[in-house]
Amino acid sequence: MTDQDYRDGTRCVHAGLPEPAPGDPFLPGPVLAAPYHLDPWQGPQAAPNGYGRPDNPTRRLLEAAVGELEGGDCRVFASGQAAITGLLLAVLRPGDTVVLPADGYFPVRAFAADTLETIGVTVRYAPTVGPYPSFAGVRLVLLETPANPGLDVADIAALAEAAHAAGALLAVDNTTATPLGQRPLGLGADVVVASGTKALTGHSDLLLGYVATRSGALLDAVTGWRTTTGAVPGAFDAWLAHRSLATLDLRLGRQSANAEAVARALAARPDVAGLRWPGLPTDPAYPVAARQMRRMPGVLSFDLGDADRVARFVVAARLVAAATSFGGLHTTADRRAQWGDDTAPGFVRLSCGVEDPADLVADIGAALDAAGAPGPLS
Ligand SMILES: *Cc1c(COP(=O)(O)O)cnc(C)c1O
Repeated sequence: MTDQDYRDGTRCVHAGLPEPAPGDPFLPGPVLAAPYHLDPWQGPQAAPNGYGRPDNPTRRLLEAAVGELEGGDCRVFASGQAAITGLLLAVLRPGDTVVLPADGYFPVRAFAADTLETIGVTVRYAPTVGPYPSFAGVRLVLLETPANPGLDVADIAALAEAAHAAGALLAVDNTTATPLGQRPLGLGADVVVASGTKALTGHSDLLLGYVATRSGALLDAVTGWRTTTGAVPGAFDAWLAHRSLATLDLRLGRQSANAEAVARALAARPDVAGLRWPGLPTDPAYPVAARQMRRMPGVLSFDLGDADRVARFVVAARLVAAATSFGGLHTTADRRAQWGDDTAPGFVRLSCGVEDPADLVADIGAALDAAGAPGPLS
């Protein structure tokens, strides 16, 4: 049996761990070092560790782990944004054209407008559900599926084929799904980018990003970019992230079950509009999601009409914290418009934690009852 044959729970527990050796810990502690001792005669040729920006042994173990789960080679970054902007800047040159999701993570679009367009890269946008423009003359297509925060889903295999037929590279932001939710490299994508800040590590205690690919040329470009620009995670964060990976299967299992229970309860309420969860058979994303995803995310979205009603809902809920980000152990709600993105004022992204499903459904139902109708309470 190879590691790829094991099921998710087993792969998560073992991913990236060194071979067992008597007296050694399961996961070695963080190696906190900027420079390392060098061999005075051979210099950096003698040992893998010379300086902390290009390389660090704690980071290498985490990269082995994430690479195993994604099915490619991985480089970790200081944040998801560092990974995504690193890939874009390592690949795109003035005169190139890139296609980005029109409804994806807002700061990626802000970066494209502030930076890519000003250095002569042509930026086109396509909604995650399509229609997609012709990829003729395009260098890179970035998909985000499921898209954050709207949760539309793109058909990775079909778009990989279309991109490759036009000579373009296909990148997929795998943040929401995680490598247990879908493996874009196996579906034909050239490269995965993601934030590890969210469900991948899941404890709301660190920032992390990564790029994963089977292409040696892309790996070299991204590695070189990271070394020269320096957006590396610290050893302690890398270690915390690796420690958290062991429970990914357990956490996602509960988050997904909670999202299903909450989605079904919300679907039955006439006072909740615009409910989206790709795992609901009535959701427009369901047909593609059910085919392409190995499990459904713990995140759903809906609209409560206005900002006041969202605030009343969160105040009344005892198990829902007001917080951005998602994929953590604790259930959180984020009214996205407060961050200046282009969602409606009452739009809520709800990230289910690992609480007991019955408690969570009861708490959310009672909080919606207490929040009343849209508009200020009279
Ligand atoms: C959060 C997020 C990012 C950015 O990740 P950070 O770790 O916050 O920099 C990128 N893409 C998606 C889909 C995200 O949700």
